[in-house]
Amino acid sequence: MKYFSNKDIAKLLREISAAYEARGENRFKIVAYDNAATSVEHATSELKDLWEKGKLSTIPGLGKSIRGHLEELFKTGKVKHFDSVKKSLPQGMFPLLDIGGLGPKSAYKLASELDIKNTGDLEKAAKEGKIRKLAGFGEKSEQEILTAISELSLKTTDRYLLTEAFPVAERVLNYLRSHKNCDRAEPLGSLRRMVATVGDIDIAVASENPKAIIEHFKKFKEISRILDAGPRKSSVLLLNGMHLDLIVQKARAFGALLQHFTGSKNHNIRLREYALKKGMSVSDYGIKVKGKLKEFKTEEEFYNFLGMDYIIPEMREDTGEVEAAVSGKLPEVIEIKDIKGDIHLHSSYRIEPSHDLGANSFEEIISEAKKLGYQYVGLSDHSPGFSTHTKTQIIDLIKKRSENIEQLKTSSKNIKVLNLLEIDILANGELSVPEEGLKILDGAIAGIHSSHRHDKKMITKRMMVAINSPYVQVISHPTGRLLNQRDSYEADWPVIFKACQRTATILEINAFPNRLDLTDTLVREAIKQGVKLIINSDAHAIEQMDNMRFGISVARRGWAQRKDIANTLPWVEFKKMFRV
Ligand SMILES: [Zn+2]
Ligand SMILES: [Zn+2]
Repeated sequence: MKYFSNKDIAKLLREISAAYEARGENRFKIVAYDNAATSVEHATSELKDLWEKGKLSTIPGLGKSIRGHLEELFKTGKVKHFDSVKKSLPQGMFPLLDIGGLGPKSAYKLASELDIKNTGDLEKAAKEGKIRKLAGFGEKSEQEILTAISELSLKTTDRYLLTEAFPVAERVLNYLRSHKNCDRAEPLGSLRRMVATVGDIDIAVASENPKAIIEHFKKFKEISRILDAGPRKSSVLLLNGMHLDLIVQKARAFGALLQHFTGSKNHNIRLREYALKKGMSVSDYGIKVKGKLKEFKTEEEFYNFLGMDYIIPEMREDTGEVEAAVSGKLPEVIEIKDIKGDIHLHSSYRIEPSHDLGANSFEEIISEAKKLGYQYVGLSDHSPGFSTHTKTQIIDLIKKRSENIEQLKTSSKNIKVLNLLEIDILANGELSVPEEGLKILDGAIAGIHSSHRHDKKMITKRMMVAINSPYVQVISHPTGRLLNQRDSYEADWPVIFKACQRTATILEINAFPNRLDLTDTLVREAIKQGVKLIINSDAHAIEQMDNMRFGISVARRGWAQRKDIANTLPWVEFKKMFRV
């Protein structure tokens, strides 16, 4: 029977939500399935495992009836109810749901009226000008469909988000480390360098008994198929569809192997060139000098032998790190323990927001922040919907929320609370909260959440409005990219950096799994221009506050030091940037 990963389940739930919508069923059902899909996507354990342990109810947003359907899915491989819901609709509408901006009703209409079976058919119909002729569609929507289809190729990439692959690798590593013959186990390649997206999972183990390790590895419970197993290597397919390679090496030579397979390719080329000049040649076995091979237990010894400081994996991209290591000038980059607070957090408080609510209350967020050892926490829900509220309504909602937060400020011990909002930089360049509302807050985070396709000039202009506002301290997810879904928009970064530096506006490194935005390269650029940064989780549920670590890895890849990151400051210093 097919294994249903969380990704498969989320997709299935979205299809049912879409099917309900196309059938014009009640709003409540549509939203319930959509929310369920979101919480499955955010789940940190495989649902199948939870179900086996009888813990499916620990996933928020999965009502009793959906849990019942999933139970049927795990037991029988299908859900009768889902099949009957989908059967009444043209099957060709479902593949179209992957196309950005195309809702279920449009997908239904296109599939039924033009007899479209897949995105290929749709692209053809759009190019032939058939879509514009349908009622409710026009030349503009036809063009938008074509653009969205061209962006689909980004989605179907076989690279995984770092945040998807990392927990899987952690489980394998912990499993391997539990074996008595395992001296050390580490990830390799882009995963170890913490690149935003990674291909296969590669892992290396140091052991004097490779056979025992390979045998132990083959019993890992998430393996679906063993593709290959030799004396010191094995290649498998995991239940979630990921490809995993294992290599075992003797402890005395492990350093060179780890270094070699961590890459990057360009970093290794630079090292090789540097070594050659000194009459040495490097490989995954060690360093040869005058025909004699020297082995290394650790990477530290390997780098030191070449006459340079140890370089952390995140910096191995051949962007000057080898030269810096030789001259002893590598910066001491930020670590997770340096972080003193998280100020981009969405709660379940009903502020009637423009975008999604979070899953937890203010109190739950504050308590989680305390658990993480933070000195301060910022509550920053989306602002009230701009198009659905009058100015007075927006201000009233903000006032009511503020009263609530003011009470929490006095009752919260050992942690400081900031009353913030994440406001929209609207398509017309205005902010989604009027000045009178902004004045009530301790500060604001502003970000672009609509009209991402504006050109460079317009995006820059919109961002400048927020940067120049005295009420905005932070610009959230500055490039707007969604990994594997949407490219960054273009912006005039030198101009933006200069303005941020002048107005002391902070740019965010958003640690949300599919954002990791700013990107590592822009982090480095921003720092060079003297711009201050902040790392926030943008968590919509308290479990996601843990994603901070992925923001840290972006900062490290961007060579950020403690002094570059605002939320490494203790509260007494940090608060000076806000109206408290
Ligand atoms: Zn946002
Ligand atoms: Zn947000």
